[in-house]
Amino acid sequence: MSVLPIVQWPDPRLSTVCTPVDRPDFGTRLTDMFDTMYAAKGRGLAGPQVGVLERLFVMDAGWKDGTPTPRVMINPDIEPRGAAVPLAETCLSVPDVAVPVARAPRVFVRWQDEHGGTHEALFEGAEARIIQHEFDHLDGKLHFDRVSPELRADLETPYLKAHS
Ligand code: ZN
Repeated sequence: MSVLPIVQWPDPRLSTVCTPVDRPDFGTRLTDMFDTMYAAKGRGLAGPQVGVLERLFVMDAGWKDGTPTPRVMINPDIEPRGAAVPLAETCLSVPDVAVPVARAPRVFVRWQDEHGGTHEALFEGAEARIIQHEFDHLDGKLHFDRVSPELRADLETPYLKAHS
């Protein structure tokens, strides 16, 4: 088990568009990412949050409720579906900040697993939100980038003061 350091905003790696994954050998990277996510009490963790600028993330929407559903999504492609609804989101890379983000209630996803297999499925509820949040990380976006400039400034300024 290896718990990796989590990259903290405003580290520029969190604003980088990640490159597709093209090799099948992940070594311990994925298990390390799960270990890191669980240790930080998170439900999703994307590559750039541990300094890996590749299009992959791990997630587990149900582990805190005793119904673990660990998933690995590599090179995901998403289609959000339905009218967006706002909900407060937190991010392991921006501790102690909750950002109300409007996101679609369902998302259709095509992705690869760690063995190279391809999958597609429709997700809803917490999984749909986590997938959209983690997918944003792969495009160098944070929850901050989904709210008005005024709200972003209100949330960012105290965070930067506290973490500088
Ligand atoms: Zn995040």
